Amino acid sequence: MSFAELGLSEKVLTAVTAAGYSTPTPIQAQAIPHVLARKDVLGIAQTGTGKTAAFTLPMLTILESGRARARMPRTLILEPTRELAAQVEENFTRYGANQKLSVALLIGGVSFGDQDAKITRGVDVLIATPGRLLDHVERGKLLLTGVELLVIDEADRMLDMGFIPDIERICKLVPFTRQTLFFTATMPPEITRISEQFLHNPVRVEVSRPATAATTITQRLIASNSQDFEKRETLRRLIKGATDLQNAIVFCNRKRDVATLHRSLQRHGFPAVALHGDMDQYARMAALESFRTGENPILVASDVAARGLDIPAVSHVFNFDVPTHAEDYVHRIGRTGRAGRLGAAFTIVTRHDDKLVSAVEKLIGQTIAFEGPGLDALPPSEAREERRGRRDRDDKRSPRGRGRSERSSRTERVEAEAPQADAPAKSTDSARHSGRHQPVRPDSEVAAAPAGSRDSARRGRGPRTRDEDDGPQVKGLGDHVPAFLLRPARV
Ligand code: AMP
Repeated sequence: MSFAELGLSEKVLTAVTAAGYSTPTPIQAQAIPHVLARKDVLGIAQTGTGKTAAFTLPMLTILESGRARARMPRTLILEPTRELAAQVEENFTRYGANQKLSVALLIGGVSFGDQDAKITRGVDVLIATPGRLLDHVERGKLLLTGVELLVIDEADRMLDMGFIPDIERICKLVPFTRQTLFFTATMPPEITRISEQFLHNPVRVEVSRPATAATTITQRLIASNSQDFEKRETLRRLIKGATDLQNAIVFCNRKRDVATLHRSLQRHGFPAVALHGDMDQYARMAALESFRTGENPILVASDVAARGLDIPAVSHVFNFDVPTHAEDYVHRIGRTGRAGRLGAAFTIVTRHDDKLVSAVEKLIGQTIAFEGPGLDALPPSEAREERRGRRDRDDKRSPRGRGRSERSSRTERVEAEAPQADAPAKSTDSARHSGRHQPVRPDSEVAAAPAGSRDSARRGRGPRTRDEDDGPQVKGLGDHVPAFLLRPARV
């Protein structure tokens, strides 16, 4: 099947050819004719299947006739995250290059003023996150009564993020007679319920069985002791040992851990950037861009921030934590092995993760093998901690023992956390400018940087926590006692 057979307008077909696409993907081939026939569509498709174009292309064709009125957008697309919203806007810019349509983006982290001005002039396509959209409605600057077509994208993610009540409110503000396109990667019962509520006689289009992982992805479990610094050490070893690592996304379950792990990787000389929900829009975009161009080929991210992002070629995914929701595992590893490419997904597993791993294996219908020794072969870390705790307690009682304990625990920590001379480096400038990903390589510069320069690089990053890999806490002046203080006092 070709794009020309789908009923798209000439202008859209020209833009599609210019984008270099010759054949529609299955979701496009199945959904586009129904959208053009003004039917409601329930699309079950993951990101990476071409689902964004499955709604942008027919929308552009439909919008060719008619005009936008002030404050009354003609179409509305709801996205769960700012990045996804921005990505959809890029799609409209690319495929709508031959049309003069007005597209507005309403997302948090951006000033209301510019957004208001654009809405007032009238928009054909409004792309929004639910919270910011409702803020605009409440300010009285936006009317949704002219919306002819509503897209609810990544509905299962909206559910996870607690946006369904907002979506229900928004659906009451748009006309009942609108056309609705509803996309979701998975179909849990709650999504079935709301799809029945929002859609009228929808055509169901499904392109892949929910919760299936691409077969081109090699999946492995890696056993690690459960302390965070031990997991970080395991991760560093993994990154350094990975073959053909071009770029990687490292997933953490919590935002706080994203920030900590990111700082730790940087301190060890790894070219990493972070992406999590607490960052402002500018920082999020900058982080993504530096990952996309290969300037920083390691992205440490939380699920919410990374879901659905269109990053074409990711060679490795590392799960720093086993995801708490098994479905997130499928989404995470789906970042690699896209479009038939090979990919690798490593999940760090501790003794406490049994249940979570079982849930993942049950969902994907396969057992994931351990790379290297399994959990049983690990040294008993908890017992070691307990021993250390007991020794510290004893040392507090004996002044002679205190020095010994401090020395030994300092050596242990420094060995575990010392920056590695073979940590990977930022890619070269030429790669940055060409947009190609360069293999992640050792960075002698970072490892060899004088302590002072590393310290100054740290300045301005805010207070550090003990959890960051700084080695043992320094007491008093540490080793830097000025000579005059060491001179015997004259009485
Ligand atoms: P999506 O599922 O919308 O995130 O799209 C995934 C990727 O597929 C994007 O990088 C699109 O540019 C690309 N894409 C979309 N449609 C096609 C097509 N018909 N042929 C090849 N690539 C496509």
